[in-house]
This record gives sequence, C-alpha cells and structure tokens, in this order.
Amino acid sequence: MRSRSPVVSFVSLGCPKALVDSERILTRLRAEGYELAREHAGADMVIVNTCGFLDSAQAESLDAIGAALAENGKVIVTGCMGAEPEKITQRYPNVFAITGPQQYESVVEAVHRAAPPLHDAFVDLVPPQGIKLTPRHYAYLKISEGCNNRCSFCIIPKLRGDLVSRPAADVLREAERLMTAGVKELLIISQDTSAYGIDLKYAASRWKDRDVRARFVELARELGTLGAWVRLHYVYPYPHVDDVIALMADGQILPYLDIPFQHAAPAVLKRMKRPAAQEKTLERIRAWRQTCPALTLRSTFIVGFPGETDADFEFLLGWLDEAQLDRVGCFRYEPVKGAAANDLGDAVPNDVKEERWHRFMARQQAISAKRLKAKVGTRQQVIIDEDGGAHVPAKWEPVRRQEHAQNEFVAKGRSKGDAPEIDGAVYVASRRPLRIGEIATVKIERADDYDLHGTAVGF
Ligand code: SF4
Repeated sequence: MRSRSPVVSFVSLGCPKALVDSERILTRLRAEGYELAREHAGADMVIVNTCGFLDSAQAESLDAIGAALAENGKVIVTGCMGAEPEKITQRYPNVFAITGPQQYESVVEAVHRAAPPLHDAFVDLVPPQGIKLTPRHYAYLKISEGCNNRCSFCIIPKLRGDLVSRPAADVLREAERLMTAGVKELLIISQDTSAYGIDLKYAASRWKDRDVRARFVELARELGTLGAWVRLHYVYPYPHVDDVIALMADGQILPYLDIPFQHAAPAVLKRMKRPAAQEKTLERIRAWRQTCPALTLRSTFIVGFPGETDADFEFLLGWLDEAQLDRVGCFRYEPVKGAAANDLGDAVPNDVKEERWHRFMARQQAISAKRLKAKVGTRQQVIIDEDGGAHVPAKWEPVRRQEHAQNEFVAKGRSKGDAPEIDGAVYVASRRPLRIGEIATVKIERADDYDLHGTAVGF
C-alpha cells in the first residue's frame, strides 16, 4: 500500500492556450490528491505539455521530453505535438503515454496508470478556482478552442480542429470564480476571438437572471460588468469588432486590441489566406481611434513569406507608418511541416528575410517609441505585478537608481495598454509600498523605448 500521495512534475510549453490546458490538467490532478514537484527527479512521473506550432517549438518540446526521460524515466506527453505521435516515438520510443491537445481525460487516465491516486484524496485542498500558473491577480480565460480559418502557414486547425466555443454562461461563471479568488485582470484568449459563438449559432445560455448569447460583443459586455480589467487577445478586424470599440470607449473593457495582422500587402494576405483580409483595415483603425482615442493596438507580422516581393514589403512599411500601431512583434517566416504554404514556392532567401526583418523592426520601433512618449505627462491606471520594496532590484535595469529618493518605494506594473508577458512595463515610485494586484494612478514622467516611468499619485 502506498502511504504518500503520488507526485507529478509538470512542464508547460507553448502559448497561453496551452497554459490554460495545463491549468485544467493540474486542477484535476490536485483535486485527486496528486502533489506537484519542482524537480523531475524523485517525482512519480513527468507530464510534458508540448507546443507544435513551429518547427523550433517542436524541437524545444522534443528536448523537454528528452530531459524528462533522462531525469525521471516515466513521461506522459500531451498538447499539440501529441496530435502527431510518430514524431515523438521516432525519437523516444519509451515514453509512457502520448495524448493530443485538450484530451484532459486521456492525460488523467495515463496518470492513473503511471501512479494511481491515493484512495483518500485531499479534495478540499483545491481552491475553487483551480490551480493557476499565472500570478494571482491575472488569469487567462479561454472562450473557445480550434479555428475555422485555414491560414496557409498554420497547422493549428489540423492539430486542434474546427472552432468549438464554450457557452457564454460557462465562461462568465469561470470569470466570476477567478475574481472571487483574487483575479483583477482577465485575458480573453482563443484562436480567433472575434469568431466566438459561430459554431453555437450564437445560442443563449442562462447566467444569473438572464440569457446571454454566445456572441463576441455580448460576452465582452457581460464580462465588462464583473469589475475586472478585461483584455481581448487574437481578434480579427471583422466589422462587428467596431461594437466592442464602443465598449472600450465607455470604459467597460480595456481599450486594448491584440490583432495579429501578419501582413498588409493584399497579394501576401491572399496567399496567407488570412481572415478578414479584404476589410479596409486602415480606415477601420482610424475610425476605432476616433471612437476610442485611448485605444492601444498590438499586432504581430511575418516578413519573408513565400512570394513576398520588394514592392509588397515596401507596402507593409508604408502601412505601418499609416497604422501607427502601439506594440508590434515580427517573425521571419519559417516553414512549418504540414502547412499549405510549403507548396507555394517562391521562397524568400534568408538574407533578404533578415534584412527585411531589421528594416521592419527599426521602422516600428520609432513608431512605438513615439507613441509611448506621447504618454509622458498623462495619468495612467497601473496594475502592480511586482513589488520592488525600498531598493530598486538589480534586474530592473531601466530604472535609474538616482531617480529614486530615499524613503521611496518602487514597483513594476502595467497600464491598460500593456498585456503581461508581451508588452512593456510601467516602473512606479511611490511614497508607500504597493501591493501586487493593486491598481494605482500613476503620473507618467519619462518613457524609454519600451517602458514608462512615473510616480503614484493616487491609490
Ligand atoms: S486564424 Fe489562422 S493562424 Fe490563427 S489559428 Fe486559425 S488558421 Fe491558424
């Protein structure tokens, strides 16, 4: 008879969507009495939640599996790479089990085989909101899974299937549970947030005293009533997105949109098979900013996509000048095995990709820096992520030590225009210590390329 709870070591790789999957698996295992370990050695098994989006992500996943096998020996693989098990077994024939994305039941079943739970599970040790891998004051909230689009560079629909939305009431109940547990900011994620509910034909579900339809705008409005910061990720510029901009202007949800444009040249967008590619995005952005001047726009782009000509690239640079986006990430195109784009031909040579990437980054950095500078002198609400205490921690390089008087406390946070992990920070000086999760009003005094600096003037 075992006298101790079985112990699981967990590796979570990939995007926020994969992180949410990891949280669900861990919640279930903790509910059954499993313990979590920080080290593979000594645990009863290791679970590796893999990412299969790019070849480089697959390589990282395979390395993580190899390390887990070397240190522990009993390894369960799940996540996107689990959809192509032969890639794993070719290299590691002795993994204990492989399951695909969202196959929570199969993961738990494999865990039971590897080390059954103790009969007397410590069910009530589990907090009602489950186990979260993000800090206590913000949480990712997944509203749907899969994707109906077929972007030519992407294999996610192959791995995760078509769009499956959660009923609105389900999402709202989870949001409420998270807030009861101390969450102050909800990060709404999916593969295509603006497509939410299409598969459900926008069916209503009962929440509190009313029916809420599974519509993007309706869900955003209801989430906005809960009192947390609500931040939308992975939205496409469909016409109905205009309606959520009005909610932002009213202060119901954060004036922040994460829209992966990926390119601007019509010919490239067509070859990429991007959703909403034919919408007049520049006009739309102008109109959004008129409705909601505080709007922060974040996006990602790919340069060097097959067939991208010099003219396409110049078009993209010109578009950036017009669009004046706030935050931008850029990737050099990388073929992904199994993606339709591999058959397009016309590959862009690596040195050209590299040169375009540098030009793109230089152009956008100047725009982002100018937009940040425009915030100097304004007052911003800032949610505190880290408390630095009375000394500026060495890792907070951008903070100039001499700027901070004695008896001043420092903290690191984010304004409504900064999402965690991908955007910049606001460094805050304060006459009293700031608590993690607290929202302070900060007068912005200085901007550098990525971050803002200021003083708390209201608590
Ligand atoms: S929208 Fe395109 S890139 Fe995003 S998951 Fe769907 S197919 Fe992939």
